[in-house]
Amino acid sequence: MRDRAILVTGGGSGIGRAVVLACAARGARVGVLDIDALSASSVADEALAHGAADALAINCDVSDERAVADAFAACENQLGSPAAVHANAGIEINHPAHLMPYEDWQRVLRINLSGLFLTCREAVRAMLRTGHGGSIVCTSSPSAFTGFSGGGNAAYGSSKGGVSALVRSLAIDYARHGIRVNAVVPGAIDTPMLLTGLAVAEQAAAHDAILRDAREQIPLGRLGRPEEIAAAVTWLLSDDASYVTGSHLVCDGGLTARSANTF
Ligand code: NAP
Repeated sequence: MRDRAILVTGGGSGIGRAVVLACAARGARVGVLDIDALSASSVADEALAHGAADALAINCDVSDERAVADAFAACENQLGSPAAVHANAGIEINHPAHLMPYEDWQRVLRINLSGLFLTCREAVRAMLRTGHGGSIVCTSSPSAFTGFSGGGNAAYGSSKGGVSALVRSLAIDYARHGIRVNAVVPGAIDTPMLLTGLAVAEQAAAHDAILRDAREQIPLGRLGRPEEIAAAVTWLLSDDASYVTGSHLVCDGGLTARSANTF
């Protein structure tokens, strides 16, 4: 990874931040793309302190076609053509379908699926231009495969199901060009996303309840840490995974292996 250009969307927080820092520690040249300019810039500073050969923060909404193209151009300009890309930015909005405002449905699909497609398209275009291949990792979710027991997962689950289908399709289309495309499937990971939509005053109690539920429901008995997902992602991004494409690496503490019922 040393001196290779690696781009991460949603790199300003949670899993994306952990991936940026893990790549930085291996001496990569990292591009931190996030809709939150401040957090992107602070993670780029952290990356330099962690040993990145270079770091660039870019304010980018992945659902904006022009912004994604511009962000890749800026990264190529400063960091070089991307050898690896983690298409990771995502949001979660949960409502039962009959109460789901169409705008919320569209927003989730626009960012999680269309935004991820735009990211992958720019990544593939850049990798085809160099002719050196590359590695793309997309962040999916258990909700691509199973319903959440809490319910209300129509939009998020549909978006992640689309991500998983897109990963398989891209893997097949670009394998002959040496471009590998895989998915990471994080379970319940301790990031700000777990508390999405809650007022600040409610967050501490909600976090305690999540930790309690995790002890009971997740076979490994706890939430995952962003660094544990970053370890899987950096492996997929690296040449160590040179024969892996079109696959899903599930990192969920055993969550999806376990059925909740006793029948
Ligand atoms: P996070 O801490 O909220 O990080 C997501 C980052 O993406 C935030 O900095 C967010 O900015 C940014 N972002 C949101 N919309 C964006 C856009 N349109 N363009 C660019 N950046 C955008 O969440 P996380 O848990 O690390 O989630 C990362 C990925 O993992 C997501 O795809 C999520 O669906 C997936 N995932 C998470 C879990 C989990 O348990 N945490 C489990 C399975 C899958 P703002 O904070 O300003 O919105």
